[in-house]
Amino acid sequence: MKLLDGKKCAEYLVADIAQQVKRYIDAGHRKPHMTIILVGEHAPSESYVKSKITSCALSGFESNLIRLPASISEKEILALIQEINEDRSTDGLIVQLPLPKHINPQLVINAIDPAKDIDGFHPTNFGRMALGQKAFRPATAYGICKLLQYYQVQVAGKHCVVIGRSNIVGKPISIMLSNDFEIGNATVTLTHIETPRELLLDETRRADIVIVAVGIPGFVTPDMVKDGVTLIDVGINRLESGKLVGDVEFDAVAPKCEWITPVPGGVGRMTVAALMINTLYAYQNNFNLA
Ligand code: NAD
Repeated sequence: MKLLDGKKCAEYLVADIAQQVKRYIDAGHRKPHMTIILVGEHAPSESYVKSKITSCALSGFESNLIRLPASISEKEILALIQEINEDRSTDGLIVQLPLPKHINPQLVINAIDPAKDIDGFHPTNFGRMALGQKAFRPATAYGICKLLQYYQVQVAGKHCVVIGRSNIVGKPISIMLSNDFEIGNATVTLTHIETPRELLLDETRRADIVIVAVGIPGFVTPDMVKDGVTLIDVGINRLESGKLVGDVEFDAVAPKCEWITPVPGGVGRMTVAALMINTLYAYQNNFNLA
């Protein structure tokens, strides 16, 4: 069993970004700039935002956090997004999800200028990604690709099973790994809550690569996978004890794996690193640097 160490890979990618940024600064350009909007109070969001801000500093980026009360109206958020869209000093904009119930997240995402949509959730970027065109790719899925590339895990020609079909993880990673673009050319099966249990087991037991994003601690058990599988655990679940775990029964499943991601220190770290890559692209596009 070998660990796909997201912390190590993310540090490598961020150091590389910081070097590129230094060259731009030395040439007289301003720093790349990320703006984050956080609405209301949500403990996990606080910690995700904190790690994004820390990673911005390590990448040599400026960042600013705009905190808004949970009572803010949809109209007010949309107006603020419009303002940031027009502000040349911001390269990338994130609206931290989830939003309070009275705000439609899709409306908010659709309002972000696709050129600043570093989360890659805007339909324009999602569509371009699906078509295998240059795009901001959804950060968690892109981070998984970067991790597989870093450890030179063979993906082309492999049978990959994705569990979970969310717009932010399961759906994009299933498309990216089946595309013929940078990393991919796998044969991918996308499973979800309506997949009959027997069918799910048939698929996962013959999969070379399993990617799980369901949000259920211990969902993947040793009987579900074959020996030598590569297992990517996207889940981030906080147990009552306060311990952070993924969707895989790690201790029991790891001995069967060729490669496995830990939680924490796996996909979560890569999500933030991928956001930094997307922000650098946004900045390069903004100044015609690439
Ligand atoms: P989600 O919470 O929106 O949806 C869960 C998905 O799991 C659904 O598509 C559902 O169909 C599927 N599912 C639920 N039960 C199932 C079952 N019994 N069999 C098959 N499929 C089933 O998904 P999400 O937003 O992708 O989040 C999933 C997990 O990943 C959560 O723990 C979340 O915190 C975590 N997450 C981690 C990162 C990261 O950076 N590591 C990023 C995003 C989400």
